[in-house]
Amino acid sequence: MTRRTAAALATSGEVLRLIRTGEAVTRSDLGRVTGLSRPAVQVRVGELLERGLVVECADAPSTGGRPPVRLEFNAGGGVVLVAALGASRTRVAVCDLAGRELAGQDFAIDVEQGPDVVLPLVMDTWDELLADWPRAVVKGVGMGVPATVEFAQGRTESARVMASWTGVVIPPLIRARFPVPVLVDNDVNVLAIGEHRGAYPELGDLMFVKVSTRIGAGVIAGGEILRGALGAAGEIGHIPVRDGGGVLCRCGNIDCVDSVASGTALLRDLRAAGKDVKTIADVTALVRAGDAETMATVREAGRRIGEVLATAVNILNPSVVVLGGDMAEAFGPLVSSIREVVYRRSTALATRRLRIEPSRLGAAAGISGCAVMVLDHVLSPDAVDAAMTGRAVREIKKSAMA
Ligand SMILES: [Zn+2]
Repeated sequence: MTRRTAAALATSGEVLRLIRTGEAVTRSDLGRVTGLSRPAVQVRVGELLERGLVVECADAPSTGGRPPVRLEFNAGGGVVLVAALGASRTRVAVCDLAGRELAGQDFAIDVEQGPDVVLPLVMDTWDELLADWPRAVVKGVGMGVPATVEFAQGRTESARVMASWTGVVIPPLIRARFPVPVLVDNDVNVLAIGEHRGAYPELGDLMFVKVSTRIGAGVIAGGEILRGALGAAGEIGHIPVRDGGGVLCRCGNIDCVDSVASGTALLRDLRAAGKDVKTIADVTALVRAGDAETMATVREAGRRIGEVLATAVNILNPSVVVLGGDMAEAFGPLVSSIREVVYRRSTALATRRLRIEPSRLGAAAGISGCAVMVLDHVLSPDAVDAAMTGRAVREIKKSAMA
């Protein structure tokens, strides 16, 4: 990049990006990297200091003389509100601008009760967690929901899966109480973002597969979440398997991997075989106890999942496939059969360095993924510049929606 191009681009938002990433942490670094004049650097840094987005730290002198003042991103300069809604559990939290959880609460809520019940409860919880913090510290909201989401609109889709949420445009409902940018994505994308940033930041290509009540996947490609045209990328649960036995899936099709290998399917099959299992935890307990019949059923599910993953691996060539969700507790037998099928049926190049690993963050990936999603948006150079120049409300709302 030439200096002239850099200078033309180096707005206050860009200067914040350089400080956040550690690419330039003193005023002279900033001048050198951006090509901005000293007064121009001063103006931009002054704006960021005034808004509390950066703070100054004086380093101890090393070689004598006056040490340069170091600029640091101020993670305490605001908060984001996050909620990871799941079919079986929900966590609501307040995070700082580095995505660290400051306060949080788990609660069991049946999301099928619909947005009229669930969203007010989530917002009440944020209010309680915020306690005495002035509401002006809230910079954005990030939410994951267990449904397909048309990302740009924050509109839920899955009519036959979460009926009461069909077609609900979530952001305006939240903004009525918290007038900040609101980003909504499906729960598995949010887990993929959290696991990638938290455990594999060095990898560009990762696939996160959630095997729980349902089966779904989130794809990181080239370091970014892959959403596809509208937000439906990674919905592997409704890809059919061969010889599934003609099981009717709740989506209306036959032999979707979700209908033959999800936690729900395992519970159905094990109960039919006379096992006393009520929850996925009961299944994983039987696996840990070495129950042969349960192990065989879980292995068979792993082969079905492997069949679908083999195709996905051929298309996407990830470095790592991360298995998460409640069924990943039975990682041993599940992964051995997934691995067997994926290595047999994917191309040699796609599997040469492929790893299949259990989730390192577990359920915590949900909250951190929601935080990363909203922070990447509200701290982006464009969003910061828009806020600086007083176009804040109009422009950020537009870009959060468009
Ligand atoms: Zn289906």
